[in-house]
Amino acid sequence: MGHGWEGVVLKLMRGRDFPLTVTGAEDVTEHCRRVHFRDGGMLAVTGIHPTMWVRVWFPGADRPHQRAYTLVDPDPVAGTFAMEFALHEGPAGRWARGANPGDTVQATVQGSAFVAPDPAPERMFLIGDSASAPAINSLLSALPEVPATIWLETRHGSDENLPLRIRPARHEVRRVPREDDGAQLVAEVRAALPGLLGDPAGAYVWIACDTVTTRALARFTRKELAVPRPQVHALGYWRP
Ligand SMILES: Cc1cc2nc3c(=O)[nH]c(=O)nc-3n(C[C@H](O)[C@H](O)[C@H](O)COP(=O)(O)OP(=O)(O)OC[C@H]3O[C@@H](n4cnc5c(N)ncnc54)[C@H](O)[C@@H]3O)c2cc1C
Repeated sequence: MGHGWEGVVLKLMRGRDFPLTVTGAEDVTEHCRRVHFRDGGMLAVTGIHPTMWVRVWFPGADRPHQRAYTLVDPDPVAGTFAMEFALHEGPAGRWARGANPGDTVQATVQGSAFVAPDPAPERMFLIGDSASAPAINSLLSALPEVPATIWLETRHGSDENLPLRIRPARHEVRRVPREDDGAQLVAEVRAALPGLLGDPAGAYVWIACDTVTTRALARFTRKELAVPRPQVHALGYWRP
């Protein structure tokens, strides 16, 4: 089955396709499933970078659906990585629940990029949820010496157990239960960030929540807190 118009647009933008093969899967929590893949030669071609993600085509009733997922522990030599799926009622979540060794999906590589903050930031502020926890982990691993405050919006009690690669000496996690469609997270960040920020020039703010929450927090950070544009990365990870 073809990918429909989405596939055509990506091809024109020089997206490259690779077949991914499932080698195993396990539940991380009741609402998060980790699936392990062989990469079909992908990482040897693309290389890797923090927060790297690919567009995966999942089966649907009439056509495949494309969803973005972050690579966990990509290993270009072994040609392997995992993905951690926050589970919802959608094509990606349905597929992940039933994934078995030997299953295959296609990945299109297009759009993922990471510009390392330069100079290295004095402090990081990472704001996300279960969908962006894998990317947050990759940032914490890539910049392990930089003190970080992490706001993690939680939807389920089990989200407390999502694996975060924190070093307690330098990283502080603030968990915020999702309320009022994300408004609670926005309120908590608005209340706390000004007091933690210090010199905006030394801060790096990374935001990946639902699209509405991400937009509100990006505007606050850039406009009201005057963090310079190159030091704010904001990308909505899902549509509420
Ligand atoms: C760059 C990037 C990287 C991403 N990496 C990851 C990752 O590593 N792991 C991961 O789990 N997600 C990740 N996401 C988010 C993921 O692509 C979306 O959540 C996607 O919509 C899930 O597809 P689905 O088929 O399960 O649900 P959809 O068919 O898209 O949606 C079904 C229903 O579920 C709701 N929904 C979808 N996603 C979420 C969510 N995260 N939380 C609450 N409700 C939701 C929708 O509002 C809708 O009502 C990433 C997104 C981007 C842009």
